[in-house]
Amino acid sequence: EVAREALDRLVVDVPDFPEPGVVFKDITPVLADHDGFTAVVAALAEHGRLDDGQVVDKVVGMEARGFILAAPVALALGAGFVPVRKAGKLPRETHAVSYSLEYGDATLELHRDAISPGDRVLLVDDVLATGGTARATRELVEACGGIVTGLAVLMELSFLPGRETVGDLPVSSLVTL
Ligand code: 5GP
Repeated sequence: EVAREALDRLVVDVPDFPEPGVVFKDITPVLADHDGFTAVVAALAEHGRLDDGQVVDKVVGMEARGFILAAPVALALGAGFVPVRKAGKLPRETHAVSYSLEYGDATLELHRDAISPGDRVLLVDDVLATGGTARATRELVEACGGIVTGLAVLMELSFLPGRETVGDLPVSSLVTL
């Protein structure tokens, strides 16, 4: 459909970024194309509709490209948007989760009062790679008492163990590479 076609046509492969041997998927041309951006937001938003006919309470986006996608998804659904940020950026009381990257550690934070107990939450990001970001974000939402209903991404890199890392979290990707 339109969203998949836009991703196939507009995502640019960038070899050796951010380091040698990595082929980075640059999604910014999709954002710059109004029809493409509209289509991918609509496709991601479908995953915020629940079996009981309701929509999720919150859409969480992970810094930084997740913000760009999750905010319009939240508006399209009639849900709230909540940012998960890198350490030290959020001004009030947070939950924090650290996880290991290929080189070193990363810490993500979420405002403690941004998710209420029982809130149903959709996670949105551009790419599922190793899954570390998604797993840490789920832990943060659960620390607030929220229920993560799924992760929606534009692209999933199937040569990395993302699905394994996120365990039983339902993942929806528009394109699998
Ligand atoms: P993970 O934690 O799953 O390894 O990495 C996911 C995070 O890294 C996501 O927030 C995603 O934005 C970013 N990321 C990893 N690889 C790529 C890539 O090839 N392209 C883009 N656009 N983002 C990537």
